[in-house]
Amino acid sequence: MMTALPFDNSYTRLPERFYARRPPTPVAAPRLVRLNRALAEELGLDPDWLAGPDGVAALAGNAVPEGADPIAAAYAGHQFGQFVPQLGDGRAVLLGEVVDRDGHRRDIQLKGAGPTPFSRRGDGRAALGPVLREYLVSEAMAALGIPTTRALAAVTTGEPVVRETLLPGAVLTRVAASHIRVGTFQFFAARGDVEGLRALADHVVARHYPEAATAASPYWALLEGVVVAQADLVARWLHVGFVHGVMNTDNMSVAGETIDYGPCAFLDAYDPRTVYSSIDRNGRYAYGQQARIALWNLTRLAETLLPLLADDETASVAEAEAALALYAPRFEAAYHGGLARKLGLAETREGDPALAGDLLKRMAENQADFTLTFRNLCAAAERPEADAVVRDLFVDPTAYDAWAVEWRGRLAQEARDPAETADAMRRTNPAFIPRNHRVEAMIEAAVERADFAPFETLLAVLSRPYADQPDHAAFAAAPEGGGVGYRTFCGT
Ligand code: AMP
Ligand code: MG
Repeated sequence: MMTALPFDNSYTRLPERFYARRPPTPVAAPRLVRLNRALAEELGLDPDWLAGPDGVAALAGNAVPEGADPIAAAYAGHQFGQFVPQLGDGRAVLLGEVVDRDGHRRDIQLKGAGPTPFSRRGDGRAALGPVLREYLVSEAMAALGIPTTRALAAVTTGEPVVRETLLPGAVLTRVAASHIRVGTFQFFAARGDVEGLRALADHVVARHYPEAATAASPYWALLEGVVVAQADLVARWLHVGFVHGVMNTDNMSVAGETIDYGPCAFLDAYDPRTVYSSIDRNGRYAYGQQARIALWNLTRLAETLLPLLADDETASVAEAEAALALYAPRFEAAYHGGLARKLGLAETREGDPALAGDLLKRMAENQADFTLTFRNLCAAAERPEADAVVRDLFVDPTAYDAWAVEWRGRLAQEARDPAETADAMRRTNPAFIPRNHRVEAMIEAAVERADFAPFETLLAVLSRPYADQPDHAAFAAAPEGGGVGYRTFCGT
């Protein structure tokens, strides 16, 4: 007989000190808000079962499906630079793992599933607003082609959660390559638990970096794999104006997926100093700091691996430094390669990073909308008359004109014809991103009026970010006033 959720759990075969076994806590009145049917099918799950009473009970944590082995994972982490030796899943329960249609192992986790031994003073619950934000933004990132955890379902609980006010409670079903974080490694390192560390590293190699298993130095190859994945990931964030908002080491996945959507937001006007999170007072996680912070976090990961890298400390440090030294060139290549493609250049030549940098500088000085500028450049690459739309995005339009002369000179050296160039640009410069003002309006409708229509509409528009959708042109527009002063609050 096929069970509805064909679990195949591997994390629970690791030693008991890696987690706390803990079922989700039932809720009063679960109601399905949304099921991601396409993702369910990708995972080999039956969407009709998931949408039915037994499925919704499982998605709310009211019933533990057969084969699940629910746990809260232990981890540590640096939060805004301060080390906290014990964090862990305080409001998330990992139901188990499934192997998807492509043979990839995926975690199925309930976020907001009730208290765990790691809850500290928290209630273990999630409010509807942050659940819808994570659902929408993670699915938008997936549609943009950026590695990310996914959203399988959102249910409301029928119970209020106490925040600054009473808010409707909800549970998000999150799917991830794994939920193993830099902070998971730090948990064992902080305890001097080298055997735990080795078991974790072996698990991560087998699961995420199988080619490292046969490398001359598997743990070095593991570190290299994470360094490369994170360098590429952060470059992708920058290309779409994404600000994660809380890049603590416990919010960085060793699988290289974007994880833990809390106070995240997208740039409207381009300014690398942009900070949205109300708790990020010093701008540690500003848009333009993210590449540097990723390396800082990777350095913390490298430190945990020192006991595994070589027999003596001097040699280990040298190994770690060699792996970390791969970060800067990898990031630069990914970042500048992507920027060149955004400008319609098939390959990066000398001078291209300066050309892109000059545009970004002019955009910052002129409060030009990040997404609209690049999207409108697509038409301008084909028809210089379309410059009119781009230049109007600049406070001083002549700042664009001077740059456009240089850009056209460079485009003239491309082998592709202008129509091909414009097409390629439309596949890398999205028209639609989760605009902050739209996300807020969507949350307000759901929370204040139980109106989920804006959520559905926005989700549908964002599932095709690179398509022109004339019927939905308003969703591409920047907010009145450029979104200055927008603030996000922690996802709890
Ligand atoms: P975050 O900032 O969401 O990444 O969470 C940081 C830590 O706080 C993690 O260990 C979470 O599990 C925990 N946490 C966040 N919100 C809650 C909550 N409502 N109840 C219990 N633990 C929480
Ligand atoms: Mg977190």
